[in-house]
Amino acid sequence: MIHTLTVTLLPGEEKDDRRIRKQIGELLSVGLRRISGYTIERQSIDARGRQAKILLQIKACTDEPLPEEPVFDPHLRTVAHAPHVVIVGAGPAGLFAALKLIALGIKPIILERGKDVRSRRRDLAAMNKDGVVNPESNYCFGEGGAGTYSDGKLYTRSTKRGDVKRILQLFIHFGADPRIGYEAHPHIGTNKLPGIISAMRTAITDCGGEVHFNARLSDIVLDGDRVSAVRLADGSTIKCTQLILATGHSARDIFELLQRKKIAIEAKPFALGVRIEHPQSIIDQAQYKCEIRSEFLPAASYSLVTQQWGRGVFSFCMCPGGIIAPAATAPGEVVVNGWSPSKRNNRFANSGTVVAVNEQDFKDYGFTGELAGMHYQSMVERRAFDAGGGRLVAPAQRLVDFTEKRSSSTLPECSYLPGITSVSLYEVLPDAVSNSLRYALKDFGKKMKGYFTNEAVMVATESRTSSPVRIPRDKDRLQHTQIKGLYPCAEGAGYAGGIVSAAMDGERCAEMAAHDRINS
Ligand SMILES: Cc1cc2nc3c(=O)[nH]c(=O)nc-3n(C[C@H](O)[C@H](O)[C@H](O)COP(=O)(O)OP(=O)(O)OC[C@H]3O[C@@H](n4cnc5c(N)ncnc54)[C@H](O)[C@@H]3O)c2cc1C
Repeated sequence: MIHTLTVTLLPGEEKDDRRIRKQIGELLSVGLRRISGYTIERQSIDARGRQAKILLQIKACTDEPLPEEPVFDPHLRTVAHAPHVVIVGAGPAGLFAALKLIALGIKPIILERGKDVRSRRRDLAAMNKDGVVNPESNYCFGEGGAGTYSDGKLYTRSTKRGDVKRILQLFIHFGADPRIGYEAHPHIGTNKLPGIISAMRTAITDCGGEVHFNARLSDIVLDGDRVSAVRLADGSTIKCTQLILATGHSARDIFELLQRKKIAIEAKPFALGVRIEHPQSIIDQAQYKCEIRSEFLPAASYSLVTQQWGRGVFSFCMCPGGIIAPAATAPGEVVVNGWSPSKRNNRFANSGTVVAVNEQDFKDYGFTGELAGMHYQSMVERRAFDAGGGRLVAPAQRLVDFTEKRSSSTLPECSYLPGITSVSLYEVLPDAVSNSLRYALKDFGKKMKGYFTNEAVMVATESRTSSPVRIPRDKDRLQHTQIKGLYPCAEGAGYAGGIVSAAMDGERCAEMAAHDRINS
């Protein structure tokens, strides 16, 4: 007989098979011999009480063998001579679109402006050590897109937009820890992602798909209202009737190209603010109500949200045991983001802490039209660069000093490698953002003990939270509302936020493009 039950354990016991079986036996009132097997469906932490507990949702079997789980099959096959679809961008959306096309018998041709995973590393080192940004190869551009050197948190709320389980299974298929299949907040870690991304690319090329690096799209060639080819920066062209545009939220040249060609795009609200870094121990003490975190508990995280004068202010992309990373994509701007290794064992905890901004905010700074949000975003990033004094040094202020409008005479140690410098963040952030943050942080301090401390440092700017532009598309066919054969995809087009939702949107666009390719 199959039973579904929740087993509650002390941290560390979730790895102890005998302990789990003992609890199953107690919960079902059966002897251990009658338990023929079990699988963990979901693992989460309940840290509400004084003692944190591990909750395992379990499918257990008594008196009969546990049914075998079907082996996951990604349906990869040879497509070398099949009709092709072009994908621009090798981020999560582009890669998962390619894998889906292969499963549907279509040959993907991926064009990626950046370099392969390995070559990208040198450019990231130059950013971190020398503050130099390569506009074609950085934390956002290159094989795997922003996903490769991201934190690799795979939690998503967009569960209705696709098959989350399939995305996780594909990650596992290409080398991720199988635990991500049942953890409530799955996380891969920056050290593991590059290998997984390379394995995906190898699978794509082994099937006869093509992946071209240093291949920047510079134009979309139209035949009337249809896509007929793409032109690359080196002058070459590739004919195509179906084009999945998965260029991410930082490809400003793509938004400018679409505007120049009068292909419809729209300004979109997004969120902007800072990254806040605390010593990890403060977050652990607050969340686990302890002096020192047990070795069996992961570095603690938080999620905070409030409203200030009708504006949402929220923490975002929390990286326990993490690092603040430089995420600029062009010289002359400072953008920060965060990541953590799979063990989450760095001494700091950081999160984006951002304020919702909209078209009225853009207008207040004189920005109107489709690219208003992008120009507003760029303005703040350039202000941060100037305030930091160059070389990606980021303007920073202690948290309590910021709320008291006091300059920070010293700054705490910070994980951001290009360095931080003390600046009043009111000089960098738009007034609506800084004022909302000021009150929101006091509110967060009431919600979470220890959060409101001058040991925490705010680092500007966290500005690439989502795309400042939407590329409109038909909601069922996923084609651009004006241009046939163009599939605006994932984060850059305004239809995803994060790795899993981008991957799912990539799959959906691939399904539509494959359908139209076969029937064209
Ligand atoms: C440091 C960091 C940490 C993050 N942590 C997380 C996390 O933990 N969890 C999470 O869910 N999300 C995280 N994210 C966000 C996540 O990486 C993105 O949401 C996701 O990568 C978006 O996928 P995408 O495929 O839509 O776009 P992208 O990943 O941005 O990929 C777009 C690709 O298009 C390419 N491109 C752009 N223009 C052109 C052109 N003209 N020609 C050819 N190619 C082009 C780019 O080089 C890039 O490779 C993080 C991001 C960063 C930077």
